[in-house]
Amino acid sequence: MRSLNTGLLAAREFDQYRVMVLEDNELQRAVLVAALRSMGVGYIAEASSGDDAIALLAGDGQGFDTILCDLQMEDSHAMDGIEFIREAREYRIGSLILVSALDEDLFACAEMLAYGYGLPLIGRLSKPLNMQKLREMLVINPRRRVGGGDAKYSGTSSPTWTRNDLKQALRRGEFRAHFQPKVSLITGKFAGVEALARWHHPEEGILLPSHFIALMESDDMIEELTEQLYRQLLISIKDWSSQGLQVRVAFNASSLTLQDVLIPNRLRAIADEHRVNTGLLTVELTESAIAQKFHGLLESLTRLRMHGFGVSLDDFGTGYASLQQLCNMPVTEVKIDRSFVASAAQRPRTGLVMEAMIALAKKLDLKIVAEGIENAGDAEFLRAAGCDIGQGFHYSRAMPADLLAPWIAAYDGMSHKVI
Ligand code: C2E
Ligand code: MG
Ligand code: MG
Repeated sequence: MRSLNTGLLAAREFDQYRVMVLEDNELQRAVLVAALRSMGVGYIAEASSGDDAIALLAGDGQGFDTILCDLQMEDSHAMDGIEFIREAREYRIGSLILVSALDEDLFACAEMLAYGYGLPLIGRLSKPLNMQKLREMLVINPRRRVGGGDAKYSGTSSPTWTRNDLKQALRRGEFRAHFQPKVSLITGKFAGVEALARWHHPEEGILLPSHFIALMESDDMIEELTEQLYRQLLISIKDWSSQGLQVRVAFNASSLTLQDVLIPNRLRAIADEHRVNTGLLTVELTESAIAQKFHGLLESLTRLRMHGFGVSLDDFGTGYASLQQLCNMPVTEVKIDRSFVASAAQRPRTGLVMEAMIALAKKLDLKIVAEGIENAGDAEFLRAAGCDIGQGFHYSRAMPADLLAPWIAAYDGMSHKVI
């Protein structure tokens, strides 16, 4: 392990950058270091094993803007890149680039590990190395090192919320339903929305469900949230209807909420109160919490169907019980998880699994929705695989209710639509 300063090199672009190269092969390490020096990287640290790299991170109060991490090590006793990924999550790293001669599938698994551990992975470099690509990657830096201080990376800078904060927010009505459009992949037309919870925090701005759903699910608050948002979406349906728009709305309910057999009648009664036809409503069953009372959940879903609601299996393909739920639950729709959509076009194996899921759902005569469509390539792949409906940032993010009508007018009005 050694460090060197290349401060006086010509290019200024990277002269403040601190990069670590973790590579056990001396020659390849020298090639990488030379390339980084020629780009004008200000500080380069070298590590020949994961242990060296961790020692550098632990001993270096300033952190690194980028770590180039070789995955395989010849010495089987040394900490390899995979193990390093596990250990490195404790430290402050601006970005991580994986380097390997591994085949596509193994590379993708290593990427998934890095994402799973919350590391700021920005890409991979196959050997032999493409230096232009390396330069492009150095510029991307999701967590730019903020000089000096404690080397530990906390993972999130946002405050954590207590039960009390959430209870107060519920009382004050700070949770709002936002709506993300869905689009028919066949006709390219608007096909409905998913209601998603947003916390309009008076100081922090709009917060996503990752800040509050899990805590609410561990408490009785989730039922209250579901009901508040449900009432809001019914009012929105009425508003849209008065503007001549019939909008189908899917809303999320955890299996914990739905194991209570009294919920379906309550949802039905509130829909009746608002004079909204339940045929416009679909419950998306989220699997984040597994129901302890399976029979209660089954009874609720059956009753919801009898009341005219659709039932969708959310995040399909991820939960361990997905296929079993497909056999046992009265579902009308599956919602393919965005983790499949994100990699299907690049990874043949994921693509095949997704095609099989779509074929299975079709055989069962279920509607198929794919979430997480981020580009035209994803949309085309899904359309060709037989998926009916798409949702994702490619079309729109979730928006407040009053923005939906103008969005639909603009979207459906486009003459040469790219789905
Ligand atoms: P979900 O039901 O699977 O909702 C889809 C999530 O994917 C949403 O995240 C949405 O913003 C995000 N998304 C949509 N398109 C894209 C895309 O193209 N790329 C990426 N990267 N993401 C996309 P959000 O709003 O953060 O919600 C996360 C989860 O929180 C939801 O996942 C759902 O499980 C839960 N949730 C949201 N609202 C509620 C609620 O009212 N009740 C309950 N029980 N759970 C909710
Ligand atoms: Mg959902
Ligand atoms: Mg989902």
